[in-house]
Amino acid sequence: MAPKKRTTQPVSKTVPPASAPGSLFDTASDPAPRQPENTRAPRPFIGIQFKCCSTYGRIYRNHEANAYAGNCPRCGKRVNVPIRHGGGSARFFSAG
Ligand SMILES: [Zn+2]
Repeated sequence: MAPKKRTTQPVSKTVPPASAPGSLFDTASDPAPRQPENTRAPRPFIGIQFKCCSTYGRIYRNHEANAYAGNCPRCGKRVNVPIRHGGGSARFFSAG
């Protein structure tokens, strides 16, 4: 199992130790992982290789939730990848 590198969380609060009666350091014993993606309903996307420009990008699901649609980040060519139910779990596509 490969160790996942967690993204470093930005320090949002700097609390002076003098005003914190030891309670802050208890968080070290709580290993519950926080997933920043769960803060809001994420919009599904897929990684895609644009053949037209040999570049990589991501496209997002459309409103109908039946396809992923987007544009090539370089030339703006529109791509459309239909979502196939039960058609495997491929997460990487190519188009263009
Ligand atoms: Zn392109």
